[in-house]
Parts: sequence; structure tokens; C-alpha cells
Amino acid sequence: MPESKTDQHLKNNAKYAAGEAIRKPNYPGKQRIQPAKRIAVVACMDARLNVEDLLGLQTGDAHIIRNAGGVVSDDVIRSLIISHHLLGTNEVILIHHTRCGMLAFTDDLLKAGLEGDPAAEKLLGQATGRPFKSCKTSASTPSAFRAFRGQIEPLDAPRDDKNIERLRWDVRRGMASILSHPWIPTTGPDEMTVRGFIYDVDTGKLEEVSYPGPMGSTV
Ligand SMILES: [Zn+2]
Repeated sequence: MPESKTDQHLKNNAKYAAGEAIRKPNYPGKQRIQPAKRIAVVACMDARLNVEDLLGLQTGDAHIIRNAGGVVSDDVIRSLIISHHLLGTNEVILIHHTRCGMLAFTDDLLKAGLEGDPAAEKLLGQATGRPFKSCKTSASTPSAFRAFRGQIEPLDAPRDDKNIERLRWDVRRGMASILSHPWIPTTGPDEMTVRGFIYDVDTGKLEEVSYPGPMGSTV
């Protein structure tokens, strides 16, 4: 099997983690609208991830879709469908990362804190190391924050066996959401391949998540 573009960018990642700059910062000149590498990346918004740098992607190479957690939400699916069917991408790289903030709260906790529950405010303040300012009112959106499954832990806690497993669960759930969508073909000549990774913010390296596999529990 020929090397995929994802594999080429994994080699770039190894160079990036070793201190080599792959990305060119200059304006590339006129380019086509279709991403040159036919890649779509879904990643967390965390400030420590520079997706272009860590994959060695140049301007014009890929669609980069980011949100809190790199969660495969309805809006990410919307973007991937447009990316694939209208703009020709055929490989998805899904990236979660160590020390992710989505490990440090639950949907119920954040919602209760925003609505003004004093116990939740206190817990969120302890977790973030700064006073949590409640809005003291309810809201109908967002319908969910999609915090990661499993036992919550302090914000920015270092990697351990437990939290790395929680990250793997969520990567697999994201992959499953993409792979099971009826408008994203995953077989045949129009196939969209999907691979999931965890980026270690302490080393700069990507690690692939096996799929299929466990997708987690709430406790
Ligand atoms: Zn994150």
C-alpha cells in the first residue's frame, strides 16, 4: 500500500518534535480553493497546539477545523461534508491532546456553575485556579459542552495511564461519529479515511489511537 499523506505528515511531526521547522511562513501566492494535500484536520483549540506546525502543513494544504476538545460535533460533521464533497478532501486527521481542559469538568458541573450553583462555582474555581464568575441565569444553548467521559481531574494535570485512556475514548467516539455518518463515504473510490491521534503537549509528538476500541464510561 502506498504511503498516505497522513503518514507523510506523521514524519513531519517527528521532525517538528525534534526541533525542525517545516512550515514556510511566507505568502504562497495564488492557490486553488481545493486543499492541495486533500486533508481535513479536526483538532482541539488548545493554545499549545499549532496544527500547521506540528503536521508540517503549508498554507493551502488542508482544512483545519477546531473547537474546544476537537469534539466531532454537528458543526464539525457539517464542515467535513463540505470539505469532502465540494472541496475534495479524502483523509481526516483527528487530534486530541494531553492536559486537555475537557478532562477537568463535566457538562452538569459547568452548567450548574454558569446558572449560579455555589457548590459548582467553588469546584470550578478550585479546578481553574481562579474565581469562577457565574452568569446566574439559564440558557438553552449550547445543548451540551461535550466534556470528556470519565473521572474529572485538576486542570492541566500531567499525563497518566488514566487520563490517556480517557483521551483515547473520546478520539474513538469522534472517529465513530465521522465513520458512521451516511454522508461521509468510508468505502469505495470516494472513500474518506479517518485516523485519530493524541498530541503530547510535553513532547510535541503525535501518537496514533487504535480503532476500533473502548469508548469509555461515565465513571
Ligand atoms: Zn484541549
